[in-house]
Amino acid sequence: MNVLRFSDLVAQGRVRGQRVFIRADLNVPQDDAGHITEDTRIRASVPCIRMALDAGAAVMVTSHLGRPTEGEFKPEDSLAPVAARLAELLGRPVPLKANWVDGVAVQPGEVVLLENCRLNKGEKKNNEELARKMAALTDIFVHDAFGTAHRAEASTYGIAQFAKVACAGPLLAAEIDAITKALAHPKRPLVAIVAGSKVSTKLTILQSLAAKVDGLVVGGGIANTFLLAQGLPIGKSLAEPDLVNEAKAVIAAMKARGAAVPIPVDVVCAKAFKADAVATVKAVADVAPDDLILDIGPKTAALLADQLEAAGTIVWNGPVGVFEFDAFANGTETIARAIADSDAFSIAGGGDTLAAIAKYGIEKDVGYISTGGGAFLEVLEGKTLPAFEILARRSQG
Ligand code: ADP
Ligand code: MG
Repeated sequence: MNVLRFSDLVAQGRVRGQRVFIRADLNVPQDDAGHITEDTRIRASVPCIRMALDAGAAVMVTSHLGRPTEGEFKPEDSLAPVAARLAELLGRPVPLKANWVDGVAVQPGEVVLLENCRLNKGEKKNNEELARKMAALTDIFVHDAFGTAHRAEASTYGIAQFAKVACAGPLLAAEIDAITKALAHPKRPLVAIVAGSKVSTKLTILQSLAAKVDGLVVGGGIANTFLLAQGLPIGKSLAEPDLVNEAKAVIAAMKARGAAVPIPVDVVCAKAFKADAVATVKAVADVAPDDLILDIGPKTAALLADQLEAAGTIVWNGPVGVFEFDAFANGTETIARAIADSDAFSIAGGGDTLAAIAKYGIEKDVGYISTGGGAFLEVLEGKTLPAFEILARRSQG
């Protein structure tokens, strides 16, 4: 992807003394008292801010937090706790500026945090007047918020249109590089795992990947829909019978390219959706009318693990079973460990997928873990994200 990179501007000495506006994703979870419960996103945003400070820029950083009502400030929507955490991580003061759209005082070598950008009227609708005002605050706009890359808002898109210079920060650039490596120029065979609970929301992903991948592994509720499409019994399992024809079309598209959608040969069933339900391994044809399929079986998991170990590139979204319940976690754990052991370049994303990666402690063995939930899924759908589109356009001059 052809975008201007902030790191290149720094290397070219084009940042010293400049005003730099960084759109970060500092949208962290908080408890009822407003304490930050998980600060991964803040820590992930630090390298870009450090890069700008070290290069001698006057640095402004903003982010959204939660879902405030535009134009209505409420204390719980404030970035104040984020400013405090950022100050600790950077080891320097990070003043928080409210009502910043019409002007921000900041000197080279300083960093200020601009209050929750979703408090500004016109942010979500990408209002041009607001975007132009934000663009006027800065010499260089840096987009470093992959989690918002699929949205066109004033602080993510409009500002990129109107700022003198618009570029990708190191976090956004890392996402672009990983996605390009996995999907645009993959080392083959390219194997994708698409699993989890909902076929309908992931159907476009399956259709888009069916045109690219050498193997399309389905799991979870998605696999159940594919079993139905093959005329196999699934009892009371989670599935979307309305989408059986779409599942058949995906299988046909893969077959036509000489590729495969491996259907489970065995499954783990229960009579109830409960952590302490009795787990029974069954051949896929033996599922009873009152069974719930809650995981792929051990034979299936072993076959898939072999396929993953031989892959050149792996894309993973979605746990293949109800991994939150230990009795139904074997499939997801086997897949996770196979990805970790494989020499393939792997990229993973999705809220529950990240939870599974953390549960099995394989963070260091995955090639790239995407920080964007919705944005990652849209990339898999084959969409060009607004952030990438505008930055690519701006890099053309
Ligand atoms: P992600 O957040 O990684 O995109 P999803 O939200 O689509 O993934 O799906 C994750 C959820 O799917 C998990 O909570 C898991 O328990 C559930 N799941 C996986 N397999 C099954 C199954 N066979 N039946 C019901 N739920 C399942
Ligand atoms: Mg999820």
